[in-house]
This record gives sequence, structure tokens and C-alpha cells, in this order.
Amino acid sequence: MNGLTINKWCLRYPVLTELMAYRETIWFNPATEEARAALAKTGLGQGDIDAAADRLERFRPFIATAFPETLAEGGLIESPLLPIPHMQAALEKKFRLQLPGRLLLKCDNLLPISGSIKARGGIYEVLKYAEEIALASGLVHGEEDYSVLADDKARAVFASYRIAVGSTGNLGLSIGIIGARFGFKVTVHMSAEARKWKKELLRSHGVEVVEHQGDYSQAVAEGRKQAANDPQCHFVDDENSTDLFLGYAVAAGRLQRQLADLAIPVDGDHPLLVYLPCGVGGGPGGITFGLKHIFGNNVHCFFAEPTHAPCMLLGLCTGLHDAVSIRDFGLNNETAADGLAVSRPSGFIGKIMAPLIDGVFTVSDEEMFRLLSLLADSEEIRMEPSALAGMAGPVRIQQATAYQQEKGLQTMGNTTHIIWGTGGRMVPEVEMIGYYRRGKELAG
Ligand SMILES: *Cc1c(COP(=O)(O)O)cnc(C)c1O
Repeated sequence: MNGLTINKWCLRYPVLTELMAYRETIWFNPATEEARAALAKTGLGQGDIDAAADRLERFRPFIATAFPETLAEGGLIESPLLPIPHMQAALEKKFRLQLPGRLLLKCDNLLPISGSIKARGGIYEVLKYAEEIALASGLVHGEEDYSVLADDKARAVFASYRIAVGSTGNLGLSIGIIGARFGFKVTVHMSAEARKWKKELLRSHGVEVVEHQGDYSQAVAEGRKQAANDPQCHFVDDENSTDLFLGYAVAAGRLQRQLADLAIPVDGDHPLLVYLPCGVGGGPGGITFGLKHIFGNNVHCFFAEPTHAPCMLLGLCTGLHDAVSIRDFGLNNETAADGLAVSRPSGFIGKIMAPLIDGVFTVSDEEMFRLLSLLADSEEIRMEPSALAGMAGPVRIQQATAYQQEKGLQTMGNTTHIIWGTGGRMVPEVEMIGYYRRGKELAG
């Protein structure tokens, strides 16, 4: 690790001592830069996000045909943005503090097709691959209605191509379901954390599921290796993919419209704080990228990680990015937040997003479960444990008076907090009841 011992690292960055003790903590990024300047250096721009948004538009007739649940929305894959005043009151009571400002929940748990944030980036990448093949093979020429890509003739073409992906569960679900619908042969390399029901669901769609004993990084490496020998196989690289990243980034423009519909301003006097659960970093990184393009320095983006898998915090804080694993610091990656059980962050995300991520905080599994049942009781909204990591965010920022002063957030009453709820609709009822009970027990 750059020739330094763990002790030396901890002396240099005291937050690492907190991480090593699995203590909940918050790290404010000392290296943030002015948003425009930082975005200009990423090599990707608003034009790239717009191109991704346009592609999703072109595919709406296909999505509406292939997934009738999206018909009412004309094939749009989007989720509601909901005020959660009862949860806000419940958090105030639980933490014995005031939470001025508005609390909203972005309900990606309700996204069609796969019920998680992965229905953004994951599905987008498969659409892009399918479009390339469809254009090259003459199935479409760019102008026609893409619903033709749902028919048998198109399926026969797609059937000679393969897609592979490594996943802790939800990315595999998204890629598997959409890929199988096109007719691709899909292989999902699942890490040890992956829930059994996710594997069974995929197999029921005709997807090949390869189970690995190792963690997420190893499942990805295995998938990459197998796909490398096969020119007809597209590997969805969760650690490095620009397509996934841009698919996630499209969420920002959609959120801007939802905020406008609710007449919620975002400007210098009305800051927006967004809390995003982070695994390898692609989802929260892409969304942050999109939001910073639109709202600049008026949006503050915080990533949330499990105390047992704080890979992005570790990578950003040390500047080592994907050259460091939480295991190097003795952390075990054991968490019920399977969507976040990642030991090594994406180097691609860490490097380009380092000046744009405002901070990272960690949350214990116990706290995620307590917040899960609190949300169910107060708002009757059920999400999976990973999706609750961000819920601690508004409380952490409310307690961070030094950060508020530094960033001119003194008037917290004008603040809008968005908690990104990242998954849960596909969780079987019995599993969800177990999660809920666990949270109630822990709350005592
Ligand atoms: C994948 C996932 C995340 C995090 O996305 P990354 O791209 O891995 O950082 C958060 N929540 C849920 C439920 C997920 O499935």
C-alpha cells in the first residue's frame, strides 16, 4: 500500500481507525473542487448524458412492448420522488433532533423490470449493445419503431450473441431479465453474497447463473476472463463501464423535472443534499455526475456504505482507489446489504469523481434494519437493507455543524434532502417480513 504500514495510514487519516473498528463514521472530502471545473476534467460531458437519454427514448416502444408493466408510462423506466414527512418525524424522534427542510425519497425500489437502481445503468447498457447489433444486422436502420426488436425475427438474431456480468445480485437481475427478453444468452457470475431467490429468479428466465465462493471483485474478474475469449460475448464491466455510468446519469435530468413539478427550487439559497448507497460506485457515481452537471455546487452528494464494506471511502481517502481493498485493512465485507458488499471500489469512478463527491458515511447493518422497519411503519414503504443506507444521511449532516458552516448551509430550513432508495420491489414477501422483524427486534 504505497509502502506505508497500516499504522502510518491511520496516523495520516484518523478516519481509517474508525473504519477498522467498524464504527459508523462520516468523511468529508477535503479535495472537492468547483463543480464545472471538475466536470470539465472527466472527459465526459452533458452531450454524452443526452445521447444516453435519447437512446432510452428510442427504446421506449420496445420496452412498452416487451414489458407490459411499463405500457402506461409508454416504456419509460422511471421512479417516483415522494415526500416522506412521517419518516422525517420518526427520525427526529429517534435521534432526538430537529430535521429542518424537506425530506424526499427517490423510490428506485419501484423501478419497472428489476426493482432496483440497476434498472437504470444495467438496462441501458444492454439496450446500447442490442442497438449496435440491430443496426449492424439491418434489423433497424435508426428511424423505425424499435418495438420490432421484440419479435421472433430479432430474437433469432440476438440468440447468436452472449452477455456476461459479475454481480452481487441486482445488476445480474437487471442484465439477466432484459438480456433474456431480447434473446441473448446471458451468464451471470454471482458473488457469495448473492441471495438465493435472485439466482432462482434468473434461472427461471433462462439465464445461466454461475455461483462463486469469492466476493464481488472475484465474480467480476471471473466473468471478465471468460468473456475475453469470446468475440460474440459482451461483458458488462461494473468496475469500468462508461455505458453503465451514463445510463445512471440520465436519472439527474428526470429528477430535475420531478423537483420542478413539486415546485421545489434548487439554487444558492436552496441547497439540495442527496444520499446515495454505494457499492462499487457506478450507480451513485453516475447519478452524482448528472446532478453536478445540472445543479453545480448547489447539490451536495454523499455516498453511504456499510461499516463492513466501506470500499469507496477507503479508496477516496487514501487516494489509492482500486489499488486498495478493505481486506488490506482487516475488514471482512460481511453485510446484509448485499447490493453494497464490495471490497474494492471502481477505479474509474474513484478517479474521475474524486473532486465531485462531497463525502462518504458508513452505516451498520443493525442501523439499516432499524431504518428499514421505521420506514415501513411510518410510510408503508418497503425496501431492501442496502436501500436504507442513505437514510442516515440527513441526520449525519444535521449533526455536522462545521460542514454546514464551511459550505454556507446555515439555513437548513431551505434544504431539500433526497434519500436515494435503491431497491426492494423484487424481494419475496417472506424475506421482507424477516428484514422487517429483524429491524423491530433491534429497535427494541
Ligand atoms: C448496486 C446497488 C447499489 C450501489 O450501486 P453501485 O453501482 O454498486 O455503487 C445500491 N443499492 C442497491 C440496492 C444496489 O443493488
